[in-house]
Amino acid sequence: MGFEYHQPSTTAEALELVARFPDAEIIAGGTDLMVRLNKTRRVPPALISLRRVQELTHIENGSGLRIGAAVPLRDVATHPAVAAGFPALVDAIRVFGSPQIRNMATLAGNLCNASPGADCAPPLLIYDALVELRSAAGVRELTIEDFILGPGATALEAGEIVTAIRVPPPPPAARSIYLRKGRVQMDLAITGVAARLEMDGATCGAVRIAAGAVAPVPRRLPRTESVVAGAAAGAETWARARAEAQHEISPISDVRASEQYRRHLTGVLVERSLARLASTNGGGT
Ligand SMILES: Cc1cc2nc3c(=O)[nH]c(=O)nc-3n(C[C@H](O)[C@H](O)[C@H](O)COP(=O)(O)OP(=O)(O)OC[C@H]3O[C@@H](n4cnc5c(N)ncnc54)[C@H](O)[C@@H]3O)c2cc1C
Repeated sequence: MGFEYHQPSTTAEALELVARFPDAEIIAGGTDLMVRLNKTRRVPPALISLRRVQELTHIENGSGLRIGAAVPLRDVATHPAVAAGFPALVDAIRVFGSPQIRNMATLAGNLCNASPGADCAPPLLIYDALVELRSAAGVRELTIEDFILGPGATALEAGEIVTAIRVPPPPPAARSIYLRKGRVQMDLAITGVAARLEMDGATCGAVRIAAGAVAPVPRRLPRTESVVAGAAAGAETWARARAEAQHEISPISDVRASEQYRRHLTGVLVERSLARLASTNGGGT
């Protein structure tokens, strides 16, 4: 049995199709969706592709960034404004899947799939990104925390699509990084940590830390952040942050790693990311 395949060229057309086929699947890069359809053998009544929707294929750089929902990750990572202001996002995309996956996959798809280990979510959390949602009723914007509700669950309502991810401009002196560890290349994260730090001489200023694959949803670590903000930069503070992060998260054991190893590794990545941010201009590996 087949299904209808629609390729609208405007957002208005896409929304009409979403309203006409309430059980349709929206497809951006298809790197999660096609795997899911294959596994479940579900045949949706229609697939609505966003790839030819012109308004969704651009990155606008004005007051912050507006990254269209159909922009492939490769183009996000190579955009000069992303490279200049949002290095943790570039770090995340650099370790993401493979070149083929990065050519197809989108930021919006990564968030809509709502995996606890979604690599782009921790960087977007430290950058205070907003998810722009559009339906026939209008536009609304949600924080990442309000958008990703649980594993595979989002606040997306019937008749809505994500049209863009908006990222406000970063504070001028902020440095940021994303570090993640998987078992092998192309594996999903065992854990991933994004951090953003502003320094005030030898003292830590504002700090944001977020982690993925350590809880049902990617999340900020506010208790760990409060250990660092206002503290003297140095090994003692990084070690305290490491210990706090290990307590603050609630990881599970699964095929990728045990709960204990995830706690250990997350602490290590928190400590390492802060040490690198304080001593260099950021940039991850
Ligand atoms: C080999 C392989 C390696 C991978 N490696 C990684 C990795 O390293 N890190 C990682 O985080 N993920 C990884 N993934 C998962 C996947 O590539 C990402 O989650 C990707 O960002 C999904 O984006 P997409 O555009 O392909 O989404 P799609 O598969 O097109 O869609 C995913 C879901 O989101 C919905 N959706 C997509 N766009 C919208 C929109 N604009 N509005 C409403 N709903 C929408 C779809 O209906 C679907 O339910 C990997 C996948 C594969 C197959």
